[in-house]
Amino acid sequence: MPRYDFRCRECGSTFEVSRPMADASEPARCPDGHDDTVKLLSTVAVGGRGTAPAPAGGGCCGGGCCGGG
Ligand SMILES: [Zn+2]
Repeated sequence: MPRYDFRCRECGSTFEVSRPMADASEPARCPDGHDDTVKLLSTVAVGGRGTAPAPAGGGCCGGGCCGGG
């Protein structure tokens, strides 16, 4: 089950709520009982992983290099 971070604007504390994605947009209540909370963007660790360019398939035939005949 995904977890969502919320911040309470009443007391300023952040808390985490585990809930199904269907209820992701439902308001969460602060552990202290406050209703004025905002949902934070989930912090996903994004690494700067470079992707090597995929080698293109052979493009010899179709030109003129192998059609000598
Ligand atoms: Zn609170």
